Amino acid sequence: MEFGGHTACVEIRCGERLFIVDAGTGISALGNALGENVPDIVDILFSHLHLDHVGGLPFFKPALTKERLVRTYCGNLDGDSAMDSLDKLFSPPLFPVRLSQFPARFEHVGFKAGETLTFDDGAVVTTHSLNHPGGATGYRFTHGNRSVCYISDVEHSEAWPDKGLTEFVRDTDLMIYDGMFSEAEYPRCRGWGHSTWEKGVELAQGAGVKSLAIFHIYPGHDDAFIRALETEMQRVMPTAFVARERQSVILDASGSETVADCPKPAKVPAI
Ligand SMILES: [Zn+2]
Ligand SMILES: [Zn+2]
Repeated sequence: MEFGGHTACVEIRCGERLFIVDAGTGISALGNALGENVPDIVDILFSHLHLDHVGGLPFFKPALTKERLVRTYCGNLDGDSAMDSLDKLFSPPLFPVRLSQFPARFEHVGFKAGETLTFDDGAVVTTHSLNHPGGATGYRFTHGNRSVCYISDVEHSEAWPDKGLTEFVRDTDLMIYDGMFSEAEYPRCRGWGHSTWEKGVELAQGAGVKSLAIFHIYPGHDDAFIRALETEMQRVMPTAFVARERQSVILDASGSETVADCPKPAKVPAI
C-alpha cells in the first residue's frame, strides 16, 4: 500500500525531454498521468526484456490512442532489438493483439550496453552492461550539471564495488539501484540476478553518489518490513531511501538541491 506493487517503470525528465525506462506494469499509470502531454516520439529504454520490465507495454495509453512513434531501445541482445521478443510475447495465444495493430507505430532499436545513445534532438544517454541472467543495461542521464543513474536489474560481484560500475555512477546525484534483498536474505537468492540494499550503499559510498533510491523491492515484503529496512539503511546513509510508487524526485538544475516528494500512503481499508 505504501511502496507499491507495480513492476518497473521510471519517468525521467531532462528539462521537458521525456525518457521512459522500462515498461513494467507501472507504465499504464504513467500513460494515464501523462494524459495529452505526450511527445510525438516516445523513447522507451529497456534495462532488459524480462516480463516484469515489458509486460505493461500494451497498456500504455499513448500507444493506444494516437498515431505517434514509440521507439524502444534494448542493449543486452548483442545489438539485436527487442522486436522479435516483443512480437513473440504480444501475439496469440499469449496476447490477443500484436503491437503492429496499435495506432502507434513501434520502432525497435538494438545497441550494445556500453555504447552511448545519441537521439535526434541531440540528447545523449550513456549506458553500462549489468550482471543479470541474460544481461541488462544501466543508464546514466545527464542534464546541465545534474545526473541520474538507473542500475536495475543487477547482481553484485564478489569483489565489490565493481570498478567499471563505480566509474559509471561516479558522483551522480541520484542512483536508482536494485535492492531486492537484504544481505541476510541474499544467500538463498544467489544467482537470481538481484542485489541488496547494503551493496547499493557500498557502491554509492564508493562512487560519491549523493542519494540512493532502492528499487525493484521484493514483492513478498510488506510496508512495515520495508519501512524498518529503510530506517536501518538511513543510519548508514542518511540520503538513501526506498523508492515509493509515484514518488518524484526533483534535481534543481541551478544548484545542488534534491527534493524528494513522497505520495501519501494509500489508506488501508478497515476490515
Ligand atoms: Zn530481470
Ligand atoms: Zn526485474
